Amino acid sequence: MNLKKNETYKTVITGMTTEGSGVGRIDGTAVFITNTAVGDVIETKIIKTSKNYAIGRVENILEPSPDRIEPDCKYFKQCGGCTYRHISYDAECKIKKQRVEDAVKRIGGFESLKINELVAGSSRNSYRNKAQLPVGKDNNGNLVMGFYAYHSHRIVDSTNCNLQPPVFSEIGDIVRRWAVENNIEPYNEATHKGLLRHLYIRYGESTGEIMVCLVINGNSINNTDSLIHQLKTISGFKSLQLNINKEKTNVILGKKCITLYGSGFITDILCGLRFNISPLSFYQVNRTQAERLYQIAQNYARLSKDDVLLDLYCGTGTIGLSMAHKVKKLVGVEIIPQAIENAKHNARLNNITNAEFICADAAKAAQQLKKSGLMPTVIIVDPPRKGCDKGLIETISHISPKRVVYVSCDSATMARDIKIFSTLGYTPQEVTPVDMFPGTSHVECVCLMIGGELN
Ligand code: SAH
Repeated sequence: MNLKKNETYKTVITGMTTEGSGVGRIDGTAVFITNTAVGDVIETKIIKTSKNYAIGRVENILEPSPDRIEPDCKYFKQCGGCTYRHISYDAECKIKKQRVEDAVKRIGGFESLKINELVAGSSRNSYRNKAQLPVGKDNNGNLVMGFYAYHSHRIVDSTNCNLQPPVFSEIGDIVRRWAVENNIEPYNEATHKGLLRHLYIRYGESTGEIMVCLVINGNSINNTDSLIHQLKTISGFKSLQLNINKEKTNVILGKKCITLYGSGFITDILCGLRFNISPLSFYQVNRTQAERLYQIAQNYARLSKDDVLLDLYCGTGTIGLSMAHKVKKLVGVEIIPQAIENAKHNARLNNITNAEFICADAAKAAQQLKKSGLMPTVIIVDPPRKGCDKGLIETISHISPKRVVYVSCDSATMARDIKIFSTLGYTPQEVTPVDMFPGTSHVECVCLMIGGELN
């Protein structure tokens, strides 16, 4: 039977995709249906068909899955931020662990690799220390500020998000009121006109310091004195920044920042070290889980004072710097120049003198390091979603470190890469999934690999 668009069918949800859609089968065709849970018996209306699959919408829940709970956010169905607020956190953790297990088995081919229990977040709520709220207009011309709807750039008008600390909503309401009172023109993506593009907020969880940043399509904005006056009522408010972004682009931040109040950065403490956070510097959004993730990486690395540690894809250096005191020397490599400047600055800020940071492509830098004779004994990689370059994996195997610790935000590419590592003499020992982003579909994991007979 061919599924017909706009027809309604009965199905049972038997699995989840990596993006968090439920999967049901109707006469052998996989149908993807968002906001469902494994075990749901539903009626679904087919909204799209294609050769090998279909997309459906829930029309009726005939028998709810035992995993279901009442979502604690009224925007959940419209907003594209969270995926799992309609099921219990326990069920979410199981799905995430299963995803890592499936990738390791199906893509990596490792049938019996040990997958540890997922390190769950302490809470689904208030864990994000950063928010980027798009600003626009609704159909009546009123200013809206909030979050993008699922797979779209339509703004759901709400500054109130459970993932962020409640103070972010207070700031959002202040900025919204101020923008309306001062006739600040919201940005329009389609026409590239209007001034205020995003409200961007960062929070140092352990210091309580808050930075507010207005991203604008222009060089300046009027009447910020009254905004500063109001923001000063917020406890911890330390800095107001302008970020200039006049490009016609989806990229949120431009390259230039102007400080309107306070200093150009706030400070947070991670793994006992101080980090300065400026609008443009990368910083883990879930500080508590980042500490847990780094601790697992450190346990896997089993460092000693004889070790030379290479931290590839190091960002602003946080992973390596948190372990620098354990080793003889730390080398960090990262492709973004500003992140490397931050990493060097972070080393100085914490009186770390055995660290060197190189701005380069990870694969090229690894080759250079090998040529220069510096032989790291332990290597940590933390690549973006696309994973490591094959050439890099080969170079790492030639450098021949005792241990490789793979930190990953995409278990599918990690599984592919550890398979390559295993053909080059590195045997995966175990994987620990870590939930850095509760409520959403993302999951991180760390894998320990040990070198062969030479080690
Ligand atoms: N380890 C850091 C950041 C990891 S995010 C932390 O825990 O905070 C991945 C990083 O890899 C990003 O900072 C990105 O800029 C960097 N990156 C992406 N491609 C790269 C490449 N080819 N070589 C080196 N770094 C790269």
